[in-house]
Amino acid sequence: MIINMKAQELRQFFLDFFKSKNHLIIPSAPMVVRNDPTLMFTNAGMNQFKDIFLGNQSPVNKRVTNSQKCLRVSGKHNDLEEVGHDTYHHTMFEMLGNWSFGDYFKKEAIEWGWEFLVKKVGITEDRLYASIFEGSSEENVPRDDEAYEYWKKCFTNPEGRIIEGSKKDNFWEMGETGPCGPCSEIHIDIRDDNERRKIPGRDLINKGHPLVIEIWNLVFIQYNRKADGTLEPLPARHVDTGMGFERLCMVVQGKKSNYETDIFQSVISEISTITGKEYGINEKSDIALRVIADHLRAVSFSIADGQMPSNNKAGYVIRRILRRAVRYGYNSLGMEEPFIYKLVPVLARTMGSHYPELASGQEHIAKIIYEEENAFLKTLGKGLKMIEKVIEELKVENNNILPGRIAFEMYDTFGFPPDLTHLILRENDMKLDMEGFETEMNNQKNRSRVDAAVETADWIILVDTEETEFTGYNRTEDDIIITKYRNVKVKGRNICQMVFNRTPFYAESGGQAGDTGTIQSDRETVTVTDTIKENNLIIHITSRKPRFPDDTFHASVDLEKRKMTANNHTATHLLHYALRSVLGEHVEQKGSLVTSDRLRFDFSHFSKMSHDEIMKVESMVNIMIRDDLPAIITGNVTMEKAKEMGAMALFGEKYGDRVRVVSFGNSVELCGGTHVKATGSIGIFKIVSEGAIAAGIRRIEAVTAEKAEEYINEKLDTVDEIASLLKTTGSITDAVGKLVTENASLKKTIDRLEERSASDALKELIEQSTIINNIRLVSGRIETGSADAMKNMAYQVRSSSDNTVLVIGADIEGKASLLVMVSDRLVKEKNINASTIIREIAREINGGGGGQPFLATAGGKNPEGIEKAIQKAAELIKQY
Ligand code: ATP
Ligand code: MG
Repeated sequence: MIINMKAQELRQFFLDFFKSKNHLIIPSAPMVVRNDPTLMFTNAGMNQFKDIFLGNQSPVNKRVTNSQKCLRVSGKHNDLEEVGHDTYHHTMFEMLGNWSFGDYFKKEAIEWGWEFLVKKVGITEDRLYASIFEGSSEENVPRDDEAYEYWKKCFTNPEGRIIEGSKKDNFWEMGETGPCGPCSEIHIDIRDDNERRKIPGRDLINKGHPLVIEIWNLVFIQYNRKADGTLEPLPARHVDTGMGFERLCMVVQGKKSNYETDIFQSVISEISTITGKEYGINEKSDIALRVIADHLRAVSFSIADGQMPSNNKAGYVIRRILRRAVRYGYNSLGMEEPFIYKLVPVLARTMGSHYPELASGQEHIAKIIYEEENAFLKTLGKGLKMIEKVIEELKVENNNILPGRIAFEMYDTFGFPPDLTHLILRENDMKLDMEGFETEMNNQKNRSRVDAAVETADWIILVDTEETEFTGYNRTEDDIIITKYRNVKVKGRNICQMVFNRTPFYAESGGQAGDTGTIQSDRETVTVTDTIKENNLIIHITSRKPRFPDDTFHASVDLEKRKMTANNHTATHLLHYALRSVLGEHVEQKGSLVTSDRLRFDFSHFSKMSHDEIMKVESMVNIMIRDDLPAIITGNVTMEKAKEMGAMALFGEKYGDRVRVVSFGNSVELCGGTHVKATGSIGIFKIVSEGAIAAGIRRIEAVTAEKAEEYINEKLDTVDEIASLLKTTGSITDAVGKLVTENASLKKTIDRLEERSASDALKELIEQSTIINNIRLVSGRIETGSADAMKNMAYQVRSSSDNTVLVIGADIEGKASLLVMVSDRLVKEKNINASTIIREIAREINGGGGGQPFLATAGGKNPEGIEKAIQKAAELIKQY
């Protein structure tokens, strides 16, 4: 008998079970991943332990368990299109896991998995199936007999219960290279007895049946995949398991869909209240309800983790998820106004106690979602108008297929989804050229794939050590040896990546740019062009591999650059502090970039900063600089201790991380960056710009020290130059003000004169006009300084005559300009087309142009050809 539990209890029940098996319970790592070039979002519980599996870091504890926030919407795991259409795949979900780092292996993993599901939760054996790896001769990996034997012992009647699976389902790999191994999946059949009698569950495994699903995957990491594709056994073997929490909940609560569990119910019923659509009545609106309930979680958790919706990378993924929800609301629930933001409080109530970042951030999250919804709904509106216009045009042409290129353009520029385009076309008995659309889509994908192409070779290990010691806080030079290196090809360019036993080089992280410098041995000098972090590994980038990599090298960081970077980093902390003092405690860091030249700081705030506020912040920072506050830095403290010390919590920290607290006066932050010894060395701080980058997020750019001096001097020089141009000794502002007024009045006079001379010229042209085939041809070269004046003439003629073709040309600043206007009646009755004429005659001026049947213009390089072009137009008119 299954014991029924609420979601909250069930999560704890799982964690406590593994605690009883000596596992340490740890919190979820952030869902948004930083410092990993291969991954934007956590997509499995093991992600945060990658360094341990790769051997770059030793585990704090050999057995741990947790519930991890995962997101599967990009890269290797992308379930987005399924979500909402089925009942058991989510974008964001929780993965329950237990891990052994070089400790227990298959036996315990299998026994405990079984004990939990069968003995503790009470799932009956006849609903369970286990799969094992069937082996692969081409990989030279045998069938997983070991796992088979342990499973056999679990089942009272193992007959037909253990299934062999192929590489696709039962061999897990972290990526193209790296740790991997066979896995065992546990599948569950929750169909009614009746159904189960008709078709055995084992026939439905991995067939997409919503009630026969995989619930838990036990991975046994025992190999390393090398860059040449071969496998080598790992010295330390690990266990990595992942169970879908929402699916377990469904089983335990006796439901047939994840969405019927208490995890989703209150959110869904809130959506129903708002939209008036009940769940369980109509398949189309049910899908929409599921999509919205699901996507709300993904988007809210991402924002809580500090990832705003935006136009690129991770931010774009989040934006797309939210837009998908808005679209389903729009299409299936008739929601034309923002409403998803209203669901945030219910979600925070449901999940906020286990995930406090959600509870504390809810107001901010709701605001961001509102802004995004609002903006996208407007785009949807615009897109709708645009497609209506295109449809009209197609109808005129008697064409019922919308070219793929246009659909793609709407998708790419306006975020207008093709399925919606499709729908609207269908309502108009039209079709979308899907093939054309796909071609455009693929072209774009290929373009970005080529951009991102990176080939990475295996590490060549010179010395087997674990972690690199970072000595750069106290030193900028050190004697080092290279412990490993590898060749990497980025966009066709070869570089070398190196790891040292210790290093004074700061690796790019926390917004601070990586150090540059050199490493020098007795025999050679190699330039380090950048230092980056891959997970916790500090990697030095050089343009070539050292010729004698086994030598001892002397590493030196570019000191000047390091000093300037430190100025900017410390100034960033002071700025953060000043912003919170001046604007309020709602200001939170949302992004930061610190280089040697400048600093950039993004923070949450909902209105434009006034000039006064900017001045206040700037002056506060400068006072802190003049106070010459000393740096007080405490390294290696626990998160708890850091919070006690008053540090503002930042995201990105994982369990077990020791943090570093950096204080200057009242500014206290968690920070791993390099800083000045005392604020005085920053000299001056100057804000260069303040503006919005996304809804509710502002950005400040600033400079310090010599860069600030340069900036200020440049501004002052400009003022001096203006003064000397104005030849004034008095107030420059007054002098410029006078100039502006004078200029405006002169412009008015010129406009009046131009207009008069244009109408005189036109009158003259009309007097000289000729009649060809009953058509009045008004043509000639005119003197004018602007294309607008030519257009004005055209409209004047158009409104006063229904029988005229106007052809005029002018030399505007050395370039030829032509215009053809045809009276509406002539367009209709005689089928005269200004675009056709202009295209013909534009050749004479070495140019091209176009327009509409009644009005067309062209530009060209050859003003000498204007007369000839006008003559040619007359010839053309004769043909009508
Ligand atoms: P499936 O075949 O059902 O997509 P998977 O093979 O992708 O599952 P794993 O990568 O092994 O799953 O992940 C471990 C567990 O996480 C699965 O057994 C399942 O319970 C759960 N899980 C995987 N993907 C999702 C998802 N999109 N939504 C909810 N739970 C999921
Ligand atoms: Mg999957």
